[in-house]
Amino acid sequence: MLTDSYKHQGMRRKLVDALHREGITDERVLAAMQRVPRHFFFEKAFVEKAYENIAFPIGEDQTISQPYTVAYQTQMLQLKPSDTVLEIGTGSGYQAAILAALGAKVVTIERNRKLHEQAKKLLVEMGYNNIIHLFGDGYEGSPNLAPFNGILITAAAPYVPPALLDQLAIGGRLVIPVGNNEQQQMWCIEKTSTQTYETTKGDWFKFVPLLKGKVF
Ligand code: SAH
Repeated sequence: MLTDSYKHQGMRRKLVDALHREGITDERVLAAMQRVPRHFFFEKAFVEKAYENIAFPIGEDQTISQPYTVAYQTQMLQLKPSDTVLEIGTGSGYQAAILAALGAKVVTIERNRKLHEQAKKLLVEMGYNNIIHLFGDGYEGSPNLAPFNGILITAAAPYVPPALLDQLAIGGRLVIPVGNNEQQQMWCIEKTSTQTYETTKGDWFKFVPLLKGKVF
């Protein structure tokens, strides 16, 4: 049984206040982070770690992103409630839940079968019915469900996958950490017409790598 106690809500409030102090100013993003119980995405033995502002292992050599990173990427996307957003790297499913809590229709892709199944099960159990879970290679995106108003990559990309730029709607934003395995800079690429883009570069982060192919 998943329970969200006053204690957890209080810990979340402190975390959200800390994010605000660190420069996350979008009230809708902060409200979504307050609403989604991050401890649901942790194994039982580690739930007390859920409201520290840290990344944490989720098995399969992967991590749930640091809350600050989730808030930073989500803020950069500037989603409207009616938007459709594509996430690459479902992982624990936490970031997908935040996007869904903002009212967006979410499509999320994971290349690791076990993580894909686990996240799908959890998010259905939590009652999210505006998330489509795909098992696949995010480098290819989801041409069938394109175009997307927002595309969010939650793993370190050596370059911007061209298929993802093609699947971005005009006026849409693609948020992607670009760099090597040591560090990546957050890029926000806005599609201004079928052929033109405007790129804004933000802070530096450290993500697990965006890898090709699938793991069964
Ligand atoms: N958004 C996640 C963070 C996941 S870490 C969360 O909120 O928990 C990055 C995830 O990206 C890992 O689960 C990894 O398996 C996945 N990944 C890496 N390369 C991928 C690719 N090419 N396509 C889809 N998923 C990928």
